[in-house]
Amino acid sequence: MDSNRQEKSVAESDEKFRLLLDGVKDYDILLLDTSGIITSWERGPGQKANELIGQHISRFYPPEDVGSDKPQRELAEALAQGRIEHEGWRLRKDGTMYWAELVTTALKDEAGNLRGFSIVQRDVTERKRSETALQSVVDHSTDALITVDQHGVIQSFGGAAQKIFGYTAVEVVGQKINMLMPEPWRSEHDAYMGNYLRTGHAKIIGIGREVSGQCKDGSLIPLDLTVTEFALDGSRFFTGILRDITERKAAQEQLRVQATRDFLTGLWNRVAIMDLLEKELSRSRREGTPVGLVFVDLDHFKQINDTYGHLAGDAVLRAASDKMRAIMRPYDLVGRYGGEEFLIVLPGCDEANLRELCERLRGILADTSIEYEKKTISWTVSIGAAMANPAKETEVELLLGAADLALYRAKSGGRNRVELATIHPDDQGGSS
Ligand code: GH3
Ligand code: MG
Ligand code: MG
Repeated sequence: MDSNRQEKSVAESDEKFRLLLDGVKDYDILLLDTSGIITSWERGPGQKANELIGQHISRFYPPEDVGSDKPQRELAEALAQGRIEHEGWRLRKDGTMYWAELVTTALKDEAGNLRGFSIVQRDVTERKRSETALQSVVDHSTDALITVDQHGVIQSFGGAAQKIFGYTAVEVVGQKINMLMPEPWRSEHDAYMGNYLRTGHAKIIGIGREVSGQCKDGSLIPLDLTVTEFALDGSRFFTGILRDITERKAAQEQLRVQATRDFLTGLWNRVAIMDLLEKELSRSRREGTPVGLVFVDLDHFKQINDTYGHLAGDAVLRAASDKMRAIMRPYDLVGRYGGEEFLIVLPGCDEANLRELCERLRGILADTSIEYEKKTISWTVSIGAAMANPAKETEVELLLGAADLALYRAKSGGRNRVELATIHPDDQGGSS
């Protein structure tokens, strides 16, 4: 109803007014005099609430609103602007509250004198409840909820968005969403979005995937992103639900590391060192460089366990591991193959270097000891080594078998010694 029509309504007969009201459902229509006293209250088609006539409109506001003079302020505003649309809590006769959506219109006669006010109101408590519930979900969500329009301009920045990105809503609303993305996505996003709007071909919408976000301080953050699309008043909008997965990623990384490491010594475990050996061998073939392979086995280790206890044995394994890692070049790969047996992969190591390295390793380990419960424990190692000649397409099994055989010879030859394998009889070197 506009004020023009309202003016006429007042001027016209009660009967005509009734006809008008009969067409309106779910609305209450009130007429007030200039001071705010109710002169008519129509509730639905033809239902008058006569008992409310003569009361001041403020009687239907919550006490705190009355205290802050809200009823009078709203009438004054309607008078100043002609018509206002507003919302607020109102009281029912029984004292319960409802959330009302209202249009208050100042009614003037032809001369422009104020005759009173009309209020059209609707009880939208249910809508208010679900809005409040939704807002509460958004406000307390640990996910970021970001809505953009079809140009990628941020419309809302809710939930944990502020916490995740470090921006306030004021800083980002009205800006392009790509400000929250690192390169290359930052530059590509406009084109991607344009393409989606044209073709409907989606890489993210309705799918969900892991993305990288860029925070205000420039840091990157791993995020799980799900995007939903909706239309409003003929425009398309997108809501992104973003979850910070930093912790999940860290846990995955920890698992990945655990899966490749030996628990006791921190060296590569058997699966990992075998995998690395395969990779080094194929690289050796590609690049034509040799690879050295070394088996190290602690001598009479069972005796160490038997004499000092299993925990002392563990301490020896750790000390020997630390030593090996310290001696080797940074790109050498040291793994625990089994119990007291270690496998070392030496990329680019030729036969002369191999012998020298093994001798050094043997000597240093033989000179190493640990203090365990006031006892000094020392040990020796036997070493069997082999070299993969890149020209010979050496298989892993062949190489391992040869090094193992060399180790066996070192053991049977008296321990605390190094033996080199001969894989290809026509190669230089051979066993020592
Ligand atoms: P050799 O000189 O012939 O190699 O004799 P050895 O006693 O070292 O060899 P053997 O294979 O007879 O014994 C290896 C021992 O290593 C047996 C096993 O209980 C012990 N062992 C294997 N893994 C561990 C471990 O993680 N901690 C400890 N303390 N001992 C281990
Ligand atoms: Mg042993
Ligand atoms: Mg052994």
